Amino acid sequence: MTLAPYACDPAQSRGRRFAEPPAPTRTAFQRDRDRIVHSTAFRRLVYKTQVFLNHEGDLFRTRLTHSIEVAQLARSMARALALNEDLVEAIALAHDLGHTPFGHAGQDALNACMQGNGGFEHNLQSLRVVDQLEERYPQFDGLNLSFETREGILKHCSATNAAALEALEPHGVARRFLDHTQPSLEAQLCNLADEIAYNAHDVDDGVRSGLIAMEQLQELPLVEQYRREALAAHPALAQATQARRLLYESIRLMLSAQVYDVLAATRSALGQSGVQTLEQVRAAPALVQFGAQMREQSLSLKTFLMRRLYRHPQVMENMALAQTVVRELFAAYCAAPQEMQAGFAARASALQATTSADANPVARVVADYIAGMTDRFASREHQRLTGKTLLP
Ligand code: MG
Repeated sequence: MTLAPYACDPAQSRGRRFAEPPAPTRTAFQRDRDRIVHSTAFRRLVYKTQVFLNHEGDLFRTRLTHSIEVAQLARSMARALALNEDLVEAIALAHDLGHTPFGHAGQDALNACMQGNGGFEHNLQSLRVVDQLEERYPQFDGLNLSFETREGILKHCSATNAAALEALEPHGVARRFLDHTQPSLEAQLCNLADEIAYNAHDVDDGVRSGLIAMEQLQELPLVEQYRREALAAHPALAQATQARRLLYESIRLMLSAQVYDVLAATRSALGQSGVQTLEQVRAAPALVQFGAQMREQSLSLKTFLMRRLYRHPQVMENMALAQTVVRELFAAYCAAPQEMQAGFAARASALQATTSADANPVARVVADYIAGMTDRFASREHQRLTGKTLLP
């Protein structure tokens, strides 16, 4: 398929940090995707919380199934916009590699532990995973991915972190946060696909968990509109026994509508901007977007999920326990770095021998170790180190 002139072309990639000969049959972005799929961090995603803790049920989304859904949405939109499908797939599959165990609660707890030591941010951590923490290749640390894939993975970055990254990699992936320019359209698309995916699947998981009642969804114009459409087209779905099928059909219609809305709004923005090249994309305002009405509706769905699901007392109760697990693990490893796995323990003792700054030099090693954990490994380690059982 012919790519649009402003799409990312693997033959024009800004390259890898360590030069490698090209693969005989795969483009640079296909190869990036394949490296991500074979990474250790990717396999861990299956046991990491999206919203519901891993032990709460087998059918809830995990970070892995969420990432696959993001890749599906991003790929189908990329194809329709003549953007690079391999690149969006690579970015989507890698975008959450830096997430801690226990979802956002885990990240907040780890960030609080790291105050005074540079903080903790999952986007930056995803980049650390693919740049440094994966240990698979003899020639380099990390996966040595292409610039365009790494750029898409670093979707947010504070000015402080961006300046630190820029110092290590001049004109690198953090530069745009200092210049206030945009990433590729493929990266922009993954961002929006992420939002579309979690809004939709969290409605589904919220209802499945019993924390959101079907009736509550009727206060949401976006969902309600498609529930009515589904019922009009299939009146039998009104029967109580068909409730789940009605929900699936409503979410399916909503997902399709959001995808078509993004395609139309993005095509129109591309047309109006007149961009013809990737360089012009970077200099223009963000071009991948919802139309105005869908943006509003997506935002109100997000607000609804925040109120009804993410801050539901039952979710909050588990999250509070998860935060205690992370905090106590952090304290335990800082006090006894040798309790970490050998590679991390060795990194910690090398630092202890050479650094004498007032900040705790071992903290980043501990944060890397905890961030890499699955929910159940973190629970088990917490139990081993503290003797307490907070989570099953
Ligand atoms: Mg995500």
